[in-house]
Amino acid sequence: MFTSIAGRAVVVTGGTRGIGKGIARVFAGAGARVLITGRDEDAAKGTVAELSEGGGEAAYVLGDVSRRDDCARIAATATERFGGIDVLCANAGIFPSATLAEMTDEDIDGVLGTNLKGTILSVQACLPALAASGRGRVILTSSITGPITGFPGWSHYGASKAGQLGFMRTAAIELAASGITVNAVMPGNVVTEGLADLGDDYMAQMTSSIPLRRLGTVDDIGYTALFLASDEAGYITGQTIVVDGGQVLPESLAALDG
Ligand code: NAP
Repeated sequence: MFTSIAGRAVVVTGGTRGIGKGIARVFAGAGARVLITGRDEDAAKGTVAELSEGGGEAAYVLGDVSRRDDCARIAATATERFGGIDVLCANAGIFPSATLAEMTDEDIDGVLGTNLKGTILSVQACLPALAASGRGRVILTSSITGPITGFPGWSHYGASKAGQLGFMRTAAIELAASGITVNAVMPGNVVTEGLADLGDDYMAQMTSSIPLRRLGTVDDIGYTALFLASDEAGYITGQTIVVDGGQVLPESLAALDG
Protein backbone atom coordinates (compact mmCIF):
# COMPACT_ATOMS: atom_id res chain seq x y z
CA MET A 1 0.00 0.00 0.00
CA PHE A 2 1.12 3.53 -0.74
CA THR A 3 1.19 6.12 2.04
CA SER A 4 -2.01 8.18 1.97
CA ILE A 5 -1.77 11.65 0.49
CA ALA A 6 -4.99 12.69 2.23
CA GLY A 7 -4.86 16.32 3.34
CA ARG A 8 -1.97 17.31 1.06
CA ALA A 9 -2.32 20.61 -0.76
CA VAL A 10 -2.27 20.24 -4.53
CA VAL A 11 -2.31 22.94 -7.23
CA VAL A 12 -3.34 21.86 -10.73
CA THR A 13 -2.86 24.46 -13.46
CA GLY A 14 -5.24 24.02 -16.37
CA GLY A 15 -7.52 22.09 -14.04
CA THR A 16 -10.78 23.49 -15.38
CA ARG A 17 -11.12 20.75 -17.99
CA GLY A 18 -9.31 17.94 -19.79
CA ILE A 19 -6.26 16.24 -18.34
CA GLY A 20 -5.94 18.78 -15.53
CA LYS A 21 -9.51 18.13 -14.43
CA GLY A 22 -8.76 14.39 -14.49
CA ILE A 23 -5.64 14.89 -12.38
CA ALA A 24 -7.62 17.04 -9.94
CA ARG A 25 -10.33 14.37 -9.68
CA VAL A 26 -7.82 11.62 -8.93
CA PHE A 27 -6.07 13.68 -6.24
CA ALA A 28 -9.37 14.83 -4.70
CA GLY A 29 -10.54 11.20 -4.71
CA ALA A 30 -7.38 10.30 -2.76
CA GLY A 31 -8.32 12.87 -0.11
CA ALA A 32 -6.00 15.69 -1.18
CA ARG A 33 -7.11 19.34 -1.07
CA VAL A 34 -7.04 20.61 -4.63
CA LEU A 35 -6.82 24.12 -6.07
CA ILE A 36 -7.54 24.22 -9.78
CA THR A 37 -6.65 27.12 -12.06
CA GLY A 38 -7.58 28.29 -15.52
CA ARG A 39 -9.11 31.33 -17.21
CA ASP A 40 -12.70 30.17 -17.77
CA GLU A 41 -14.71 30.89 -14.62
CA ASP A 42 -17.80 28.88 -15.62
CA ALA A 43 -15.69 25.82 -16.33
CA ALA A 44 -13.76 26.31 -13.07
CA LYS A 45 -16.97 26.55 -11.03
CA GLY A 46 -18.39 23.48 -12.76
CA THR A 47 -15.26 21.45 -12.06
CA VAL A 48 -15.14 22.48 -8.40
CA ALA A 49 -18.81 21.56 -8.02
CA GLU A 50 -18.15 18.15 -9.61
CA LEU A 51 -15.14 17.48 -7.39
CA SER A 52 -17.04 18.57 -4.27
CA GLU A 53 -20.05 16.39 -5.15
CA GLY A 54 -17.61 13.48 -5.33
CA GLY A 55 -16.67 14.23 -1.71
CA GLY A 56 -13.38 15.98 -2.50
CA GLU A 57 -12.10 19.29 -1.16
CA ALA A 58 -11.64 21.64 -4.11
CA ALA A 59 -11.42 25.33 -4.92
CA TYR A 60 -10.47 27.44 -7.90
CA VAL A 61 -8.60 30.63 -8.65
CA LEU A 62 -8.57 32.21 -12.07
CA GLY A 63 -5.20 32.91 -13.65
CA ASP A 64 -3.20 32.92 -16.86
CA VAL A 65 0.00 30.91 -16.33
CA SER A 66 1.88 32.98 -18.90
CA ARG A 67 1.65 35.96 -16.48
CA ARG A 68 3.99 36.17 -13.50
CA ASP A 69 1.47 38.12 -11.37
CA ASP A 70 -1.22 35.55 -11.97
CA CYS A 71 1.10 32.71 -10.97
CA ALA A 72 2.00 34.58 -7.78
CA ARG A 73 -1.71 34.97 -7.02
CA ILE A 74 -2.35 31.27 -7.63
CA ALA A 75 0.44 30.30 -5.20
CA ALA A 76 -0.75 32.85 -2.61
CA THR A 77 -4.32 31.55 -2.83
CA ALA A 78 -3.20 27.98 -2.25
CA THR A 79 -1.07 29.01 0.70
CA GLU A 80 -3.87 31.07 2.26
CA ARG A 81 -6.49 28.41 1.71
CA PHE A 82 -4.54 25.25 2.44
CA GLY A 83 -1.64 26.54 4.54
CA GLY A 84 0.94 25.55 1.92
CA ILE A 85 1.58 23.64 -1.28
CA ASP A 86 2.79 20.02 -1.34
CA VAL A 87 2.23 19.23 -5.01
CA LEU A 88 2.19 21.37 -8.15
CA CYS A 89 0.85 19.79 -11.33
CA ALA A 90 1.98 22.21 -14.05
CA ASN A 91 -0.43 21.06 -16.69
CA ALA A 92 -1.93 24.11 -18.44
CA GLY A 93 -1.24 23.98 -22.15
CA ILE A 94 -2.56 24.76 -25.60
CA PHE A 95 -2.05 23.03 -28.93
CA PRO A 96 -3.22 25.20 -31.82
CA SER A 97 -1.96 23.99 -35.20
CA ALA A 98 0.15 26.08 -37.60
CA THR A 99 2.60 24.91 -40.26
CA LEU A 100 6.10 26.38 -40.20
CA ALA A 101 5.38 28.19 -43.48
CA GLU A 102 2.42 30.07 -42.02
CA MET A 103 3.37 30.41 -38.33
CA THR A 104 3.21 33.95 -36.96
CA ASP A 105 5.03 35.55 -34.04
CA GLU A 106 1.71 35.47 -32.22
CA ASP A 107 1.40 31.71 -32.76
CA ILE A 108 4.93 31.10 -31.46
CA ASP A 109 4.64 33.44 -28.48
CA GLY A 110 1.22 32.05 -27.56
CA VAL A 111 2.31 28.42 -27.46
CA LEU A 112 5.71 29.01 -25.85
CA GLY A 113 4.22 31.58 -23.46
CA THR A 114 1.60 29.23 -22.05
CA ASN A 115 3.30 25.85 -22.35
CA LEU A 116 6.93 26.65 -21.56
CA LYS A 117 7.09 30.05 -19.86
CA GLY A 118 3.86 29.15 -18.01
CA THR A 119 5.54 26.01 -16.66
CA ILE A 120 8.56 27.94 -15.45
CA LEU A 121 6.50 30.77 -13.92
CA SER A 122 4.14 28.43 -12.08
CA VAL A 123 7.03 26.43 -10.63
CA GLN A 124 8.84 29.62 -9.59
CA ALA A 125 5.74 31.00 -7.89
CA CYS A 126 5.13 27.81 -5.89
CA LEU A 127 8.79 27.28 -4.91
CA PRO A 128 8.80 28.77 -1.39
CA ALA A 129 5.68 26.80 -0.40
CA LEU A 130 6.96 23.57 -2.01
CA ALA A 131 10.26 23.94 -0.15
CA ALA A 132 8.42 24.58 3.12
CA SER A 133 6.46 21.35 2.57
CA GLY A 134 9.65 19.31 2.96
CA ARG A 135 8.33 16.78 0.44
CA GLY A 136 7.42 19.06 -2.46
CA ARG A 137 6.48 17.48 -5.75
CA VAL A 138 6.33 19.08 -9.20
CA ILE A 139 4.69 17.09 -11.97
CA LEU A 140 4.79 18.54 -15.46
CA THR A 141 2.41 17.52 -18.23
CA SER A 142 4.70 17.27 -21.24
CA SER A 143 3.82 15.13 -24.30
CA ILE A 144 5.23 12.51 -26.63
CA THR A 145 4.95 15.22 -29.32
CA GLY A 146 8.25 17.07 -29.36
CA PRO A 147 10.39 14.99 -26.99
CA ILE A 148 9.86 11.77 -29.03
CA THR A 149 7.55 12.26 -32.01
CA GLY A 150 6.52 14.93 -34.50
CA PHE A 151 3.29 15.89 -36.22
CA PRO A 152 2.75 18.48 -38.98
CA GLY A 153 1.44 21.75 -37.58
CA TRP A 154 2.99 21.33 -34.16
CA SER A 155 6.62 22.36 -34.46
CA HIS A 156 6.09 25.21 -31.97
CA TYR A 157 4.08 22.92 -29.68
CA GLY A 158 6.72 20.18 -29.93
CA ALA A 159 9.42 22.71 -29.06
CA SER A 160 7.44 23.81 -26.00
CA LYS A 161 6.93 20.23 -24.77
CA ALA A 162 10.59 19.26 -25.32
CA GLY A 163 11.53 22.56 -23.67
CA GLN A 164 9.62 21.55 -20.54
CA LEU A 165 11.92 18.53 -20.22
CA GLY A 166 15.04 20.67 -20.60
CA PHE A 167 13.70 22.91 -17.85
CA MET A 168 12.84 19.89 -15.68
CA ARG A 169 16.35 18.42 -15.66
CA THR A 170 18.07 21.49 -14.28
CA ALA A 171 15.14 22.38 -12.01
CA ALA A 172 15.35 18.87 -10.51
CA ILE A 173 19.02 19.42 -9.64
CA GLU A 174 18.49 22.93 -8.25
CA LEU A 175 15.49 21.94 -6.14
CA ALA A 176 16.82 18.64 -4.80
CA ALA A 177 18.41 20.42 -1.85
CA SER A 178 14.91 21.58 -0.81
CA GLY A 179 13.57 18.02 -0.98
CA ILE A 180 11.49 18.84 -4.07
CA THR A 181 11.25 16.34 -6.92
CA VAL A 182 10.44 17.41 -10.48
CA ASN A 183 9.17 14.84 -12.98
CA ALA A 184 7.12 14.80 -16.17
CA VAL A 185 4.28 12.72 -17.57
CA MET A 186 4.37 12.38 -21.35
CA PRO A 187 0.88 11.56 -22.57
CA GLY A 188 0.09 10.18 -25.98
CA ASN A 189 -3.36 11.07 -27.33
CA VAL A 190 -5.76 11.51 -24.43
CA VAL A 191 -9.49 12.12 -24.86
CA THR A 192 -10.13 15.68 -23.68
CA GLU A 193 -12.14 18.68 -24.80
CA GLY A 194 -8.96 20.03 -26.41
CA LEU A 195 -8.31 16.80 -28.33
CA ALA A 196 -11.94 16.56 -29.44
CA ASP A 197 -11.49 19.98 -31.08
CA LEU A 198 -9.08 18.29 -33.52
CA GLY A 199 -11.97 16.27 -34.99
CA ASP A 200 -13.17 12.68 -35.32
CA ASP A 201 -10.84 11.87 -38.24
CA TYR A 202 -7.79 12.86 -36.20
CA MET A 203 -8.96 10.76 -33.23
CA ALA A 204 -9.68 7.71 -35.43
CA GLN A 205 -6.28 8.02 -37.14
CA MET A 206 -4.53 8.21 -33.78
CA THR A 207 -6.44 5.26 -32.32
CA SER A 208 -5.32 3.09 -35.23
CA SER A 209 -1.67 3.92 -34.49
CA ILE A 210 -1.83 2.81 -30.84
CA PRO A 211 -0.90 -0.81 -30.01
CA LEU A 212 -3.40 -0.92 -27.13
CA ARG A 213 -6.06 0.24 -29.64
CA ARG A 214 -7.60 2.97 -27.57
CA LEU A 215 -6.97 6.62 -26.84
CA GLY A 216 -5.82 7.52 -23.35
CA THR A 217 -8.15 8.67 -20.60
CA VAL A 218 -7.58 11.53 -18.20
CA ASP A 219 -7.49 8.93 -15.41
CA ASP A 220 -4.50 7.26 -17.11
CA ILE A 221 -2.60 10.50 -16.63
CA GLY A 222 -4.13 11.31 -13.23
CA TYR A 223 -2.98 8.05 -11.63
CA THR A 224 0.52 8.46 -13.06
CA ALA A 225 0.69 11.92 -11.51
CA LEU A 226 -0.62 10.49 -8.24
CA PHE A 227 2.18 7.92 -8.21
CA LEU A 228 4.80 10.61 -8.84
CA ALA A 229 3.32 12.63 -5.96
CA SER A 230 3.48 9.72 -3.54
CA ASP A 231 6.02 9.38 -0.73
CA GLU A 232 7.07 6.10 -2.34
CA ALA A 233 8.18 7.98 -5.50
CA GLY A 234 10.34 10.32 -3.42
CA TYR A 235 13.64 9.04 -4.87
CA ILE A 236 12.57 9.69 -8.48
CA THR A 237 13.48 13.09 -9.86
CA GLY A 238 14.19 14.61 -13.26
CA GLN A 239 12.50 11.67 -15.00
CA THR A 240 9.77 11.10 -17.54
CA ILE A 241 7.00 8.53 -17.85
CA VAL A 242 5.41 7.93 -21.26
CA VAL A 243 1.69 7.10 -20.93
CA ASP A 244 0.58 6.41 -24.48
CA GLY A 245 -0.74 2.85 -24.92
CA GLY A 246 2.50 2.02 -26.75
CA GLN A 247 2.00 4.67 -29.42
CA VAL A 248 5.71 5.51 -29.76
CA LEU A 249 6.74 1.85 -30.18
CA PRO A 250 5.88 0.79 -33.78
CA GLU A 251 8.73 1.20 -36.29
CA SER A 252 6.14 1.43 -39.07
CA LEU A 253 2.41 0.96 -39.61
CA ALA A 254 3.22 -2.64 -40.67
CA ALA A 255 4.15 -3.32 -37.05
CA LEU A 256 0.51 -2.87 -36.14
CA ASP A 257 -0.88 -5.33 -38.71
CA GLY A 258 -2.46 -8.48 -37.40
P1 NAP B 1 -7.66 21.12 -22.85
O1 NAP B 1 -8.77 20.16 -22.75
O2 NAP B 1 -7.69 22.16 -23.92
O3 NAP B 1 -7.46 21.84 -21.43
C1 NAP B 1 -6.42 22.79 -21.29
C2 NAP B 1 -6.43 23.37 -19.89
O4 NAP B 1 -5.38 24.33 -19.81
C3 NAP B 1 -7.73 24.08 -19.57
O5 NAP B 1 -8.05 23.85 -18.22
C4 NAP B 1 -7.38 25.55 -19.79
O6 NAP B 1 -8.13 26.35 -18.90
C5 NAP B 1 -5.92 25.58 -19.38
N1 NAP B 1 -5.17 26.68 -19.98
C6 NAP B 1 -4.88 26.88 -21.30
N2 NAP B 1 -4.17 28.01 -21.43
C7 NAP B 1 -4.01 28.54 -20.19
C8 NAP B 1 -3.35 29.68 -19.67
N3 NAP B 1 -2.69 30.55 -20.47
N4 NAP B 1 -3.39 29.89 -18.34
C9 NAP B 1 -4.05 29.03 -17.52
N5 NAP B 1 -4.67 27.93 -17.95
C10 NAP B 1 -4.65 27.69 -19.26
O7 NAP B 1 -6.26 20.38 -23.05
P2 NAP B 1 -5.77 18.95 -22.54
O8 NAP B 1 -5.89 18.02 -23.68
O9 NAP B 1 -6.37 18.60 -21.25
O10 NAP B 1 -4.22 19.27 -22.34
C11 NAP B 1 -3.69 19.53 -21.05
C12 NAP B 1 -2.17 19.38 -21.08
O11 NAP B 1 -1.86 18.08 -21.53
C13 NAP B 1 -1.46 20.35 -22.02
O12 NAP B 1 -0.26 20.77 -21.45
C14 NAP B 1 -1.21 19.51 -23.26
O13 NAP B 1 -0.09 19.95 -23.98
C15 NAP B 1 -0.95 18.16 -22.62
N6 NAP B 1 -1.16 17.02 -23.51
C16 NAP B 1 -2.41 16.70 -23.95
C17 NAP B 1 -2.57 15.60 -24.77
C18 NAP B 1 -3.91 15.14 -25.26
O14 NAP B 1 -3.95 14.22 -26.09
N7 NAP B 1 -5.01 15.68 -24.80
C19 NAP B 1 -1.44 14.84 -25.16
C20 NAP B 1 -0.19 15.21 -24.69
C21 NAP B 1 -0.06 16.30 -23.85
P3 NAP B 1 -9.01 27.61 -19.36
O15 NAP B 1 -9.62 27.24 -20.67
O16 NAP B 1 -9.97 27.73 -18.22
O17 NAP B 1 -8.03 28.72 -19.42
